[in-house]
Amino acid sequence: MNQMTIHDLHEKLLAKELSAVELTKTFIAHRDAAEGEIHAYLSTSDEAALAKAAAVDAKIAAGEPVSDMAGIPGAIKDNICIKGETCTAASRMLEHWVAPYNATVIEKLEAADYVSLGKTNLDEFAMGSSTENSYFGPSRNPWNTECVPGGSSGGSAAAVAANEAVWALGSDTGGSIRQPASFCGLVGLKPTYGLVSRYGLLAFASSLDQIGPIVKDVTDAAIVLNAIAGHDPRDSTSIPMEKKDYKEALKTDVKGLRIGVPDEFFGPGIKEETKEAVKSALAFYEKEGAEIVPVSIPHIKSGVSVYYIIAPAEASSNLARYDGVGFGFRMPGEDIVDMYIKTRSAGFGKEVKRRIMLGNYVLSAGYYDAYYLKALKVRHLLKDDFDRAFAQCDVIAAPSASGAAFRFGAFSDPLSLYMEDICTVPVNLVGAPSISIPVGFHDGMPLGMQLIGPALGEERILNAAYAFEQAHPELTRTAPKGEMEA
Ligand code: GLN
Repeated sequence: MNQMTIHDLHEKLLAKELSAVELTKTFIAHRDAAEGEIHAYLSTSDEAALAKAAAVDAKIAAGEPVSDMAGIPGAIKDNICIKGETCTAASRMLEHWVAPYNATVIEKLEAADYVSLGKTNLDEFAMGSSTENSYFGPSRNPWNTECVPGGSSGGSAAAVAANEAVWALGSDTGGSIRQPASFCGLVGLKPTYGLVSRYGLLAFASSLDQIGPIVKDVTDAAIVLNAIAGHDPRDSTSIPMEKKDYKEALKTDVKGLRIGVPDEFFGPGIKEETKEAVKSALAFYEKEGAEIVPVSIPHIKSGVSVYYIIAPAEASSNLARYDGVGFGFRMPGEDIVDMYIKTRSAGFGKEVKRRIMLGNYVLSAGYYDAYYLKALKVRHLLKDDFDRAFAQCDVIAAPSASGAAFRFGAFSDPLSLYMEDICTVPVNLVGAPSISIPVGFHDGMPLGMQLIGPALGEERILNAAYAFEQAHPELTRTAPKGEMEA
C-alpha cells in the first residue's frame, strides 16, 4: 500500500480488489499507530468515515458510478468547517467550538462521496510556517521527526506523508499549502484566488486565503481540484466560470512551453542545494523542448514586507469577532471590557496577538497611509511585474522554500521566520495559481519547486508539473514514517 494514491486506489475499488471499508480501516489503524510520533490530527471522525465508506461499497456493488475520490480516506485542515464537528483553528479560542454548517468545499466533497479520517493540525489561525504555533503542540515531519513538517497546513502534509491519509485539504494565505508540501515531499496546489470557495474557511486574510489539495502526486491534485473548484454565490470573490476537468491537463508534452525564470527568486536567501535542484529541473524541461526565458519581477524584494502589512491588517479585522460573546472561549471579567480583554489575552497565542497588534497599528489613523495604503500600492506594482513576466512566458519556476525542512526551534525571532516566506507570499499577493512538486533531496530531506501560472492558468502548471513528475518517479517516494504493510 506504500505509494497509494487516489487514482491507484480508485482503480482497485472499481476492480473490487479491496473495499472502501477495508481501506478506511487500514488507514485508521496506520494513523493510530503513527500518531504518537507524528501528531498530524487534532480530532478524528472514524464512525462517520466508516459509514461513508460502506455507502460507497454499496454503490460500487450496485454498479452505480462513483467519483474519482469516492471512499478514499483523506483529512481536512482544522480551519475548514464540517457541520457538527469541532473546528479549532488550533486555537484555545475555538477549542470546543462546533461548526454549525459545512464549508462549500465540504459540500462539494460530500457530493463526491468523500471519506475524512479527521481534522488536521495547523499553526494557530494558520499563522506560521511550522505548526509550532499550534495551541495543541506541533506536528512532526515523517521524513525526520526532529524537523518541522512546515506550516501552516503542517498537519495535513504530515498526515499524507506518513500515510495517515491518502489526501488532505490545506489552506494557503502566504504559502501554507506549498511550503509544507515541499517539506514533506508532496504535491501542494494553491488555486487561483477565487477558483475555490472560501465559504466556511475560518478567515485569516480574506484577500489572500485559498483552499487547495496536499497530495502524493499531480494526478491526485487534479482530482481533488476537480472536486472542490467552482463558483459559489456565498463567496463574493468566487469567480463565475464553467467547470473544467483538470485531469485533461495531465500531459507530458511540454514542447514550446515558455518557462520564465526570475533571478529575484534565486537570491542570497535561497540555499545552494535548492537552486541546484530547480536548475536541474529547468535543464530537464529544456531537453524536452521547453524554452527557458529569463524574466524579472523586481518587487519580489518587497513581497514579505507587503504581505506582513496586508495579512495582519486583514487578520486584525477578521479576528475581532472572537470576543467571548459570539464564539468559543470566554474568560469572565469584572465588566464587559474586562471580559473582552481577559478572553482575548488568554484565548489567543503569542503569534496571533502579534499579528493583531501589527494589523491594528498599520490600520490606525496616522499610520494607515504610511503602511497599509503604501502596501496596497506596492501590491499593484508586484501584480504589474507578474503581468509583464507572463507576457513573455507561460509559467514561472521558483523554489517553494529556501531549503529543506528545518529543525524545531530553529527560528527564535519571528522576523527571520517571516523572511522564510519569500518564495510563496508574492504569489498570494497577485492571486496566481501555483503548484509545489518534489524536485530533489538534500541530506535525505525533500526539496520543492513551484510552478506558477497566470490567473486561471491551473492547466498549464498541472501540465508542466505532470511532465516533470512522470520523468522522475524516484522523487515520488514514501517518507520513512509512511511505510505500510502490503
Ligand atoms: N507563513 C505565512 C504566515 O505565517 C503563511 C501562512 C499561510 O499561508 N496561512 O502568515
